[in-house]
Amino acid sequence: MRIDIISAVPDLMESPLNHSIIKRAKEKGLVEIHIINLHDYGHGNYKQIDDYQFGGDAGMVIRPEPLFRAITDLTSRREYDHVIYTSPDGEMFDQNMANSLSCCDNLIILCGHYKGIDHRIREHLITKEISIGNYVLSGGETAAIVICDAIVRLIPGALGDGSSALSDSFQDGLLSPPVYTRPAEFNGWKVPEVLLSGNPRLIQEWKHGMSIERTRLLRPELLDEGWEG
Ligand code: SAH
Repeated sequence: MRIDIISAVPDLMESPLNHSIIKRAKEKGLVEIHIINLHDYGHGNYKQIDDYQFGGDAGMVIRPEPLFRAITDLTSRREYDHVIYTSPDGEMFDQNMANSLSCCDNLIILCGHYKGIDHRIREHLITKEISIGNYVLSGGETAAIVICDAIVRLIPGALGDGSSALSDSFQDGLLSPPVYTRPAEFNGWKVPEVLLSGNPRLIQEWKHGMSIERTRLLRPELLDEGWEG
């Protein structure tokens, strides 16, 4: 899989995209992530990318020309499954969407900034708009990191042996059961007895029961909606 992220602040993403599971997935050749600096497609000597908005309200807007040049430069080189724009009014990101995006070959993620991007680009070049929640971020970079992280860990082979994305919350429509490690007793707080029993069937039953109980308690809408995950 290849992910091209177009950003006006590329340095913001350096560390999160170069550590942990994403780093290992890159090293294993499972994913390539390229960060494209929008200023490279900017206007004039100062590589300007933004301008005042028509209508006179406060806040700068990213101009259409650098966005057009950056996107078409990529789309002229290869076919993309989606040209994604991160936006608070986009489709809400969730595990279902992460699953389906993890099956793509090539993705562009465009990060907005300031007041957003010129709407004509959204109308003519963007094929999918994604929000990571009902709040406003300063830029799309943090959203792009969230999306990349959720997608990359789903690529088969990205997670190390012994940890499977399939047993994570939402993957089967349920929240994860609680997890414990050594010591079996800490401060007088004990690990549930069944986990020390060595009986795999009982342990699985307990985990499944806890998943259902926690989902009913914390996120009952997942059960009500007959979540499709
Ligand atoms: N004026 C816009 C917000 C601009 S915030 C509005 O009110 O809708 C600047 C940029 O941050 C946006 O262009 C978008 O790319 C990104 N962004 C902000 N909140 C986001 C969210 N919840 N999900 C995804 N991207 C977001």
